[in-house]
Amino acid sequence: MTTIAFIGLGNMGAPMARNLIKGGLNLRVFDVIESLAVPFSDLGATVCDSAAQASVGAQVVISMLPASQHVQALYLGKDGLLTKLTPGTLVIDCSTIAPDTSRQVAQAANALNLTAIDAPVSGGTNGAQAGTLTFIVGGKPDAVERARPVLELMGSKIFHAGDAGAGQAAKIANNMVLGIQMIATAEALNLGIANGLDPKVLSDIMAQSSGRNWTLEVYNPWPGVMDNVPAARGYEGGFGVDLMLKDLGLAMDAAEQSACATLLGDLAREIYAEHSQDGNGKLDFSSILQMIQKRSGQRSA
Ligand code: NAD
Repeated sequence: MTTIAFIGLGNMGAPMARNLIKGGLNLRVFDVIESLAVPFSDLGATVCDSAAQASVGAQVVISMLPASQHVQALYLGKDGLLTKLTPGTLVIDCSTIAPDTSRQVAQAANALNLTAIDAPVSGGTNGAQAGTLTFIVGGKPDAVERARPVLELMGSKIFHAGDAGAGQAAKIANNMVLGIQMIATAEALNLGIANGLDPKVLSDIMAQSSGRNWTLEVYNPWPGVMDNVPAARGYEGGFGVDLMLKDLGLAMDAAEQSACATLLGDLAREIYAEHSQDGNGKLDFSSILQMIQKRSGQRSA
């Protein structure tokens, strides 16, 4: 049976790892927060004390970490995890990070006769739980094919975007749209409701009109419109404001490097930064509605 090491059991990693166990794979799991790994022993996984303990001898290593610096610290350097893996091991990093970092990991892996691909995801925590994520993969075609049966246990769509780093470049562009759309949706709902509309009625109308978009239809920010979204549970879990801020920062870096104008991307980043500075960095990014409501109160005061 294929042995998989899974590193990083946060909002996304935990449900992804559970789907691999359901799919019959032998899992070894690790998170720096021990309490996140412990429940996996009841599911039949081996809970490990370090990333190295989880990974040595595994055929595939999967990581789902917050940002570039975590991925660099895990894999690269003289004592990095790559130096401890058996030649031939496939490394699949699903974190959303800088394309350059993914390329560094792929090159370092190649030099050690390992294979590394970037496979960031779209679909949110509900997609991770349901096993319906979209994987956006960067790497050599044969490596993508090798990863496919494992990715199919966690997702329903797998795109090969191009060489190492291409998965990240596509994911970053996608998330810039997501960040902008969430602000636009929250503003529009707030405006309509302040003008006498019912939140569910307005959401239904917009979902069948030209304002339809993912944040409205799948991840509605207005509490009470949908069950099983962060807005229904005080904006806990989901996709953190600080993670959105990180992704918009990656988009701005990429825009600078490629001399692209990102007018709304820049503005969205400023808006999420202010929301984070107000102490909301760990809340789901749909909580941006609360900032819009706060500003609306200031305007009417
Ligand atoms: P999270 O903060 O909930 O989880 C990250 C986990 O990594 C934490 O549990 C943390 O303790 C662990 N970790 C950090 N460094 C570690 C290390 N060296 N070894 C082991 N564990 C370590 O974040 P998340 O929401 O699960 O997101 C993970 C990644 O997926 C991010 O890059 C994010 O941008 C991306 N993403 C998130 C969503 C979402 O909806 N949450 C959707 C798509 C993509």
